[in-house]
Amino acid sequence: MYYAHPGGTIWSVKRKGGNDCGAGRIGPPRKLRGNILNGYIRVSLDIDGKVFSKSVHRLILETFRGVAPEGYHACHYPDPNRKNNRIENLRWDTAMENAKDKYRDHPIATTKCCNRCGYEKEKKDFYSDKRAIDGLKTECKICHSKVSMDTRDPLKKRLSNRIFMRNIRRLNPSYGRSSLGGIKGPHRPVAAPAVDAAVVAVGSHDLGHQNTSGSSGAMPDKILHSLNFLLVR
Ligand SMILES: [Zn+2]
Repeated sequence: MYYAHPGGTIWSVKRKGGNDCGAGRIGPPRKLRGNILNGYIRVSLDIDGKVFSKSVHRLILETFRGVAPEGYHACHYPDPNRKNNRIENLRWDTAMENAKDKYRDHPIATTKCCNRCGYEKEKKDFYSDKRAIDGLKTECKICHSKVSMDTRDPLKKRLSNRIFMRNIRRLNPSYGRSSLGGIKGPHRPVAAPAVDAAVVAVGSHDLGHQNTSGSSGAMPDKILHSLNFLLVR
């Protein structure tokens, strides 16, 4: 025989010394120790010679509140501790209500911590951002506008870009350069076919003038510039 205590424990009572003439005397109740699985306490019950593992909170609820209705879960509230199986702390409820327990005692936060300056600020001090989980940017309005002013300043932008390129080319020297040796993007100096034609026309006898811009006066500067790129490769 097993007994459930409203305090959240399961007890076992066994008969001792029984024989064919009598059932023997009832032994003292023994508290089941149980083991922990996923934070819940489970006990092993011997029912008709078969051993079943049962979770204590379900046993307590089934004993004092009846079997759970379809689709209902055992909920621990107000103490979310899974080991607190006192009957006052348990109820059958839907998964949705179970999830709401988490926020029942904690009203929705009205403040947020800025990722850049680290100050706790009200939510109206943050710009909205649809991509964020909470719909707000991670940095406050002041920090955000400060950063955006920095990137709008051409001097600061160029400097930060130079530092960025220097760091990334240290790891990968061909970063941002196309396979032809030109520069990727809209600022490519000369269209590729024109360069090829110029290289073929000039041939190898012009190698000595590769770095002097004045000697080959007939060649436009743009093409010479691209030629340097090719020869360096
Ligand atoms: Zn800030």
